[in-house]
Amino acid sequence: MKKLTEDETGSFQNYLSEGCKLCQQGAKMVLFVTGLCPRNCFYCPLSGERGGKDLIFANERSVKTDSDVIEEAKLMDALGTGITGGEPLLKVERVLHYVRLLKVTFGQEHHIHLYTSLAPDRETLSALAEAGLDEIRFHPPQNLWEGLENSPYAVSIRTAINQGIATGIEVPVLQGAEKLALFAAETGIFLNLNELEFSETNAKGLNEQGFSLESDISNAAFGSRKVAEAACAVGDMIHFCSSNYKDAVQLRKRLLRIAGNTAREFDEVTEDGTIIYGLIEGEVQDMELAEAVLKEQGVPPEFLEVKGKKTGKGRAGEAEQEFCIEIAWWVLEEVKKELLVCNAKMSLIERYPFEGGLVVEVIPLK
Ligand code: SF4
Repeated sequence: MKKLTEDETGSFQNYLSEGCKLCQQGAKMVLFVTGLCPRNCFYCPLSGERGGKDLIFANERSVKTDSDVIEEAKLMDALGTGITGGEPLLKVERVLHYVRLLKVTFGQEHHIHLYTSLAPDRETLSALAEAGLDEIRFHPPQNLWEGLENSPYAVSIRTAINQGIATGIEVPVLQGAEKLALFAAETGIFLNLNELEFSETNAKGLNEQGFSLESDISNAAFGSRKVAEAACAVGDMIHFCSSNYKDAVQLRKRLLRIAGNTAREFDEVTEDGTIIYGLIEGEVQDMELAEAVLKEQGVPPEFLEVKGKKTGKGRAGEAEQEFCIEIAWWVLEEVKKELLVCNAKMSLIERYPFEGGLVVEVIPLK
């Protein structure tokens, strides 16, 4: 067995696929091509918002047109894309379209991997390879793990290898994972084992199967890691991805990449990739007064952004639209006393670094 390396999040591996290497840099866009899926895995983590619905998302952005996908990839400086679902291959033409679109737009070096719970035929795999798919990760159902060699998955896996696609298996850690480790070692493919995780949608199913939480501060299922260690002992080219990893590394690095592109001069970018700024909001007359106070205090225009203010004349009432001022937080701290005359609401905001990004914290200043 090759030497294992472990990181601070509890993940360990003796092999990392190209797709995983880019994921570790936070450089992979997640392209969710459909929420439809013919399987009904008890551990399925899909949210109610996406599961069973034919929706498309690039990271968290809802996709209506190709430009939504391209813009999201540019926003995070993506070096690659992971295509997921649901079951992506229920929409083969859609997958082929996105593989071609991403390769044409970002070049052949934009690395694309695909997850599937199906065992696609030669024609499908050949079309995927021709479109430029770099890596495929099979997710066979647990009841086939023991006899995988005699299942349609073994045929599909060998066909994918012959088509020149980097091939592996990716499943949550469940009993029987060591059978997959043996199969993977014999076939010369990689095995990604994801720590089994509780989510809002799968908690009932996991409880019914006898799983419990590892601890009060983790979503990981108790014992998952032990099973992965046993699998590692009998196979090689294995990567165990801990439940902590996605939050601690993947998301943080992706947010940092986005912040590098989107942060304004006055935003403070935190080490978690969120941004912090000050916010002034209120009635139109209060905000106009606030603008005047900021001018009087000599706040440079590059330290603030006025948002939502109507400038043109429109229907009656249009000019009454509320607006707000986003401003360097340290400037707001300095001038907040002077702004008290405005009767406007002042706060410090920490949020994800894109328009409409999740607000992590709001600290009122008065
Ligand atoms: S194959 Fe994936 S998407 Fe489909 S039910 Fe299983 S875990 Fe959910």
